[in-house]
Amino acid sequence: MQALKGFKDILPDEAALWQRVEATARDVFQRFGFEEIKVPILERTGLFARSIGEATDIVEKEMYTFNDRNGESLTMRPEGTAPVLRAFIEHALHLRRPLSRLFTIGPMFRHERPQKGRLRQFHQLSVEALGSDHPRLDAEVIAMARQILVELGLAAELQLNSLGCPACRPAYRQKLVNFFAGHQEQLCEDCRRRATANPLRVLDCKSANCRALNAKAPAILDALCPPCAQHLTTVRRNLDTLQAPHRLNPFMVRGLDYYTRTTFELITDALGSQGAVGAGGRYDSLVHRLGGQNLPGIGFALGIERLVLLLQEQPMAPASGPDLFLACLGEAAAEYGFTLLHQCRLAGLSALMNFQTPGLKSQMRQADRLKARLVLLIGANELNAGQAVLRDLTSKEECQVPLNDELAALLANKLPTPDPLISGL
Ligand code: ATP
Ligand code: MG
Repeated sequence: MQALKGFKDILPDEAALWQRVEATARDVFQRFGFEEIKVPILERTGLFARSIGEATDIVEKEMYTFNDRNGESLTMRPEGTAPVLRAFIEHALHLRRPLSRLFTIGPMFRHERPQKGRLRQFHQLSVEALGSDHPRLDAEVIAMARQILVELGLAAELQLNSLGCPACRPAYRQKLVNFFAGHQEQLCEDCRRRATANPLRVLDCKSANCRALNAKAPAILDALCPPCAQHLTTVRRNLDTLQAPHRLNPFMVRGLDYYTRTTFELITDALGSQGAVGAGGRYDSLVHRLGGQNLPGIGFALGIERLVLLLQEQPMAPASGPDLFLACLGEAAAEYGFTLLHQCRLAGLSALMNFQTPGLKSQMRQADRLKARLVLLIGANELNAGQAVLRDLTSKEECQVPLNDELAALLANKLPTPDPLISGL
């Protein structure tokens, strides 16, 4: 039996990096005042059609949608914003605080062509800030996304754009429709259809011909209404204040229709066409569109798989093993060791032993392979003498320790307190 195509097992070696990503992100979220929310993986299909947009790749061809046993159409969430906003509205969270700062971490599902950094089940750190349209919030949220990368030791380019608002986007959209109508023959098949249904999508097309044509298309930044232009200018100034360098990319349109004004992506050149490690933007009409109050908001999502791939390309500190391995020789020593093992764990040590009690050599090899820091050797003689040899596998030093009730506490004190920066590895 094998896992489904595009669905991946995360084995223990890789899971350590996932933990590091998650711990770093949680730490940054906490400092920026963001609180965790957990929402279901399954939602009614209509939620995504209404928010992401009917004429998007995600809704048209990437969703895992099925009828459940009652005949209701359900969808495995392809992104986190719609479910979090559904929960936000359902539980009237806007009454709790004037500005809600929420994050969620978990799997998303899209039926895409699997490749490196592109899976069908992938995971996002997904963030929403709801209740303000102030450009400082844009800069703060974008700087937070960037800060997670910085604290993971990763570099990415921050690209910024504005998609305008209901006041200026329709006119721009019409300009695009007119422009593409005059250049039908240069568009790929998909884009010929999109050129009238969703012309902004064409700007995002990866095909060479469409890209060449897009370079000549009217630019959205020239079509922004004065308030949207002002918003963008202020966001940029605030990003400068927060020392978050960025580049304007007027062709970045994003794959979801709900964005208004600010959009951004964090791009690396390390993962080929899967270069975006995170992306997001403002969605000032979305809460209302989903049946809630007229509340503006902004959010983003970082892809955990892509962050982990980037971390795997970096030189890594070797993974650390258990603090202690108990090498017990013979049944009586094993009996004693089994109790000590538990006491050590209660005292805060990570400790392991081999219940089969093979020979000394074999157990020492096992301790090495596990990368244990300390080994305690207990045999019949040690039990009789009431003391045993403790060996430090890094420094190769040895000392005698008493086999008494204080031993677990003594061993726990022997280990240096881990450096908080390294212990997260
Ligand atoms: P892409 O252009 O790579 O398809 P996207 O614009 O569809 O990305 P978003 O929907 O904005 O991506 O999701 C935000 C982040 O989630 C992306 O920047 C990426 O890191 C990650 N992501 C999106 N789709 C996938 C996928 N199929 N597999 C792995 N990670 C993904
Ligand atoms: Mg995509």
